[in-house]
Amino acid sequence: MPGPSRKKRLHYPALLHAVLLPCVLLLVLATDTLAAGYTSRIVLEQNSESYVMGMQMDVLEDPTRSLTIGDVTSPGNAERFTPFRQEVPNWGFSESAYWYRTVIKNPLATEQELILEQITTWIDRMTIYTSDVSGEGGFTSFELGDKLPFRTRKVAHTDFLYPITLQPGESLQLYIRIQSRAAVFTPITIWHKEDYYRHDSTTSYFFGAFFGIIGIMFIYNLFLYTNTRDSNYLFYVCFIFAFGIMFANSKGLTLAYVLPNHPELTERVQTAGLSLFQLCGILFGIRFLNTRTYTPLLHRLLTIVAAGHLLLIGLAFLVPDVVPISRISLIGVQINGPLLLLAGIRAWSRGSHNVRFYLLGWMSGIIGYIFTTFTLLGVLSYDRFIYNGAFIGGLIDMAFLSFALADRIKRLNEQREEARQMAELSMQVATEELEQKVQERTVDLIYAKDEADQANRIKSLFLSRMSHELRTPLNSIIGFTHLLSKNSELETMPQAQEQVSHINSSSQHLLALINDILDISRIESGKMSINIEPVSIRSALDNTIQLVRPIALNNDIQIIDQTPQHDFCNVLADQTRLTQVLLNLLINAIKYNRPEGSVYIMASVDDLRCRLYIADTGPGIAAHQVETIFKPFERLEHGKGEIEGSGIGLTIAKQLMELMNGSIGVTSSPGEGSTFSFELEVTQEQPTGKPKVVEMPHMEQAPYPKREVSSASGEDDDRNIVLYVEDNMINRTLMEHIFNDRPDIHLIMAETAAEGIRLARIRMPLLIMMDIRLPDASGYDALANLQTNERTAHIPVVAVSANVTENDIQRGREAGFIDYLEKPVEIDRLMRLIDLYLTPSEVLPN
Ligand code: ADP
Repeated sequence: MPGPSRKKRLHYPALLHAVLLPCVLLLVLATDTLAAGYTSRIVLEQNSESYVMGMQMDVLEDPTRSLTIGDVTSPGNAERFTPFRQEVPNWGFSESAYWYRTVIKNPLATEQELILEQITTWIDRMTIYTSDVSGEGGFTSFELGDKLPFRTRKVAHTDFLYPITLQPGESLQLYIRIQSRAAVFTPITIWHKEDYYRHDSTTSYFFGAFFGIIGIMFIYNLFLYTNTRDSNYLFYVCFIFAFGIMFANSKGLTLAYVLPNHPELTERVQTAGLSLFQLCGILFGIRFLNTRTYTPLLHRLLTIVAAGHLLLIGLAFLVPDVVPISRISLIGVQINGPLLLLAGIRAWSRGSHNVRFYLLGWMSGIIGYIFTTFTLLGVLSYDRFIYNGAFIGGLIDMAFLSFALADRIKRLNEQREEARQMAELSMQVATEELEQKVQERTVDLIYAKDEADQANRIKSLFLSRMSHELRTPLNSIIGFTHLLSKNSELETMPQAQEQVSHINSSSQHLLALINDILDISRIESGKMSINIEPVSIRSALDNTIQLVRPIALNNDIQIIDQTPQHDFCNVLADQTRLTQVLLNLLINAIKYNRPEGSVYIMASVDDLRCRLYIADTGPGIAAHQVETIFKPFERLEHGKGEIEGSGIGLTIAKQLMELMNGSIGVTSSPGEGSTFSFELEVTQEQPTGKPKVVEMPHMEQAPYPKREVSSASGEDDDRNIVLYVEDNMINRTLMEHIFNDRPDIHLIMAETAAEGIRLARIRMPLLIMMDIRLPDASGYDALANLQTNERTAHIPVVAVSANVTENDIQRGREAGFIDYLEKPVEIDRLMRLIDLYLTPSEVLPN
């Protein structure tokens, strides 16, 4: 008689085994009280943990599902049982009821507590009958199954458990009736109680770990999804979730913990869970493998299957009988697996490198599934590990899919990094190219700037030379004209008088032009020194109006000053340059006006800016010409006739205004007049020092107060000697003529610096007039020489030069010239100066 399959304890004493086992067998044979029909029995042993019931039981199939315990124990039916000698009774999807029977004998000397365990939790009904004289027909029945609420179980466990106790020597007849529309796969094991719980705790750890891994993967991938927003992760997370649900369902956890009082829902949830798992698997596969691109045909098929599963999920809760839906869903598993595997292989063969891990994962899943299926089909003998192959394979699949995703992200990162490096490289190349271009351009610009600087220097040099060269002849022209105009003989010749006046005004005009051009060149070369300080607008206006009033009178123009007559605002400006601008605007307003016209001066002031308006009643300026008039040498038609001008006054005014952080502009109504205005920054500070009195260029000046010249002075009196050092013959002649009017002064002249120094030492003049550019040395050298000589050190020296830049004048004053007379020399100014210095008591040393 073959014994039941037993699982031995690992260690036990061999001696005990050798002695006890034959004794037990003898005892069993001697005390056999069982009915003759029983051929299967399980004899408890001291050293066994458990007994697989399938190896020692009889089976009766009841296709009518109508037999009762009374029927099957009746002598007629008892004969119909056939011995069953496999580990797991597996009847597939069967509508029949199955009766198992066996006898459990306890030949041991102690009471044995046993646990009957059936682990396929989807079995609908499993009724256990144990022989008990007090029970119905001599049997006690107990019902288990997933169609019953969880609380009806004797042992609260996800598996079907039934406790049995056998007294020493007691035998128990055991009948089990199984009926299920789900696969009738019934591995039943009889455990010694404490062995069962030890085994169960191991199983619990195993499942705990299993759920733990699933949970961690779920959370981790959900976290990855929230970070990356990559929909692959979302599908993967759903897939893990569905896998967890399916696992929980199949292990009876849903009925035990989620729906303990709703067994009718369990099967529906199980069916929906299975379809959800497949749906998520397909969606993830479609997304991950990019089936739309790599395998359009499979893509279509998978999409249809996915839609089918979606439908099944819905139907699982809607149809009255869920079993057919559940079977279709199971068939789906056979389809999806191969389809996705195929899709993976196609994607790989078409160059998608991400799918290595995916394929490995899917293979593990399928292999695991095959193990489980083969166990269920009885092809493989039952083994808990192999039977759970689908879940273990699924778990490995999950892990590989996780790797697949990580690999994908890694590849994407590599691609991104590659792209970044490429971008960096091209950026670097571009930057280098740019740098090179910038360098080339900088070199070009430096050259260009050098050239421009050079050209500027040449221009400035040229202008100052030109100005010098032009001033020298102008000096004599203006000087002689002046002398001529004073000539009494001219009074009788009105025509000649007029001609002389023309020469005078033309020369003055030429001089003004030279001055203006010098100004422009100074501004453009940045050499115009500007001294910004608080300036009273009132005093600048007063000064300027005073200067232009005679011109206005001459032209029959009325100046109407409508600005406040008190000190109404101080601005930040250079006083001289501000007056220059005011003069230009006022003279223009007088020049470009109608006979008996007017010039209005107005002001507007706020906290920040002060604006001055100069409006005239002249011809006005057309809008399109407003820009033009601020450009050098641009004159409008109405200005070109007999009105004198050079066309650069406004250019200078604009540039000066900009140098003083101000602005200038004009509004005009042609035919009615123009309003020029400028604006400067207001300051609360008061002007420091006295307001400068700016002189009207080229205008007759009021004479200096005449000083008394020594009465003792006579033609040959050395004390009234004035020395003029000048190389230009005409200028010397001019000076001679000028001094003809001054019999009190004896003018002596030298052509060179050396001659001048020599004469100064011998004749000891009261005043020396020194040209700067002399043939043998500069006027500065001559001055220095005079100053170092005891005899001549005290003699005042006046520079008389055509070098008239600000630098020249500044340098002259610093060198020790008492004054710097610009050529053309203003004769009246010269005379006032001479009078001032010809007082012997002031100039002679004691
Ligand atoms: P200039 O007066 O020496 O010609 P400006 O630079 O001062 O040079 O002026 C440039 C031109 O602008 C003048 O020639 C004249 O045509 C025009 N202009 C200047 N001021 C006025 C004005 N108040 N009314 C009409 N036109 C003017």
